[in-house]
Amino acid sequence: MKDLYYDAVVIGGGAAGMAAALEIERGGHGVAIVEREDFLGGILMQCIHAGFGLKVFKEELTGPEFAERFIEAVLQSSIAVYLGTTVTKLVPWTATNGGGDLGREQEKGVSTSPFPRWELFCVSPEVGVFRILTRAVVLAMGCRERNRGNIRIPGSRPAGIYTAGLAQRLVNIEGYIPGRNIVIIGSGDIGLIMARRMSWIGCTVQAVVEIMPYPSGLTRNIVQCLDDFGIPLYLSSQVTNIFGNHRVEGVEVTPMERGVLIREKAFRLSCDTVLLSVGLVPENELSRTAGVELHPSTGGPVVDSRLMTNLPGIFACGNVLHVHDLVDWVTEEASFCGKQVTQWLAGKMVLRQVPCRAGANVRSVTPNKLNVEEDNPLYLRSMIVANETDLEVRLDNRVIKRIQKSHVQPSEMITLSLGKKELEGVREDSVVELALLPHQ
Ligand SMILES: Cc1cc2nc3c(=O)[nH]c(=O)nc-3n(C[C@H](O)[C@H](O)[C@H](O)COP(=O)(O)OP(=O)(O)OC[C@H]3O[C@@H](n4cnc5c(N)ncnc54)[C@H](O)[C@@H]3O)c2cc1C
Repeated sequence: MKDLYYDAVVIGGGAAGMAAALEIERGGHGVAIVEREDFLGGILMQCIHAGFGLKVFKEELTGPEFAERFIEAVLQSSIAVYLGTTVTKLVPWTATNGGGDLGREQEKGVSTSPFPRWELFCVSPEVGVFRILTRAVVLAMGCRERNRGNIRIPGSRPAGIYTAGLAQRLVNIEGYIPGRNIVIIGSGDIGLIMARRMSWIGCTVQAVVEIMPYPSGLTRNIVQCLDDFGIPLYLSSQVTNIFGNHRVEGVEVTPMERGVLIREKAFRLSCDTVLLSVGLVPENELSRTAGVELHPSTGGPVVDSRLMTNLPGIFACGNVLHVHDLVDWVTEEASFCGKQVTQWLAGKMVLRQVPCRAGANVRSVTPNKLNVEEDNPLYLRSMIVANETDLEVRLDNRVIKRIQKSHVQPSEMITLSLGKKELEGVREDSVVELALLPHQ
């Protein structure tokens, strides 16, 4: 079996993987990206709508345009790129498990250091199975869509039921139309964007049906993708049946009051296609089998202030860590992760960290530890929809920061930074907690 050796390996060549790899290369380390698709860019390549990069590039780009800028930078760097290659296994390296000769492939970015920690089994149609030995791994595998099985919609099993992202790939990359007369379940951003896209290509979008009393996508997408096209949004409503034998013929929609289905108010919408936009799940099968501890709220790894998991040398960033709404946040987080990998490879340790957790009305906070000596970028998700709230940061029940928020909702990620000054006075057993409370 062919063996390769790099200081660091990034699994996944989407926005997160490319940004992290570029930082590691800038730090002077040999790095490779392994990507299972035949192209870099990840999910961005099928998002042909505008709205990407307002923060990173200060202009509005499409997904492929945003990706192209990073792809150019990667190709001009010394980063080694393995396309059409899937990482199937990630295990600790030991000299006794067949690692003897580390391989001396003279590829771009090959490492100078002979001390690997992790072993990645990779497979590609061209090369077959090969192994990469490395000191650091960045998990950047993105996320996958929840499907009909995940939300258990009863009914028959006809053709014409897709996840919204799959439909997006069919329309934008493969050039197929998945159906003509469409009902979308869930008001997540991908579903909203597909409502507009399907309307543009001449299909009829009957409705978007959302179980929650509020939309789960960004407000800008509700306006630009539904309101502008006169597409109805049924909130507090559930699709309770899918009809049709060979092909979808319609769905039953049942309104809800205080979480209870009101059967007598159920109605039927005719359609030939159902698109599901019911959430994303970080793609952590590989991480789980490697022994990475996962967080119950995010579905991504538990990470410290460096975005390092419980396994030394394994880091995570982007949608595999927690689902992001904007690619700009993914890029920012991944660049930070790349810098941390560089420091870790150079042997720099974090001396003092403090645990950080979600408090009242906060669903999740990433990372799960903060560095007491430096600035920490923090990302959190609200559990509530509310106007005029205070984001309160408490260190051992003492308020150390309060930020007024005019509006919060679960679909819009909140970002902030906590620095050395604010974390002054941290004790051995201290905890930082973030809460969303009515404005004082
Ligand atoms: C439909 C949609 C619309 C969006 N719209 C916007 C928008 O308007 N504006 C905005 O700013 N953001 C938007 N976003 C968000 C943003 O684009 C994403 O959050 C971001 O691109 C995710 O990047 P990532 O690198 O974490 O994941 P991905 O792009 O998913 O990349 C992960 C990569 O890992 C690879 N991979 C996974 N497992 C393996 C393995 N075992 N071996 C090798 N490779 C592997 C995958 O093939 C994939 O290429 C949108 C996202 C979606 C899905």
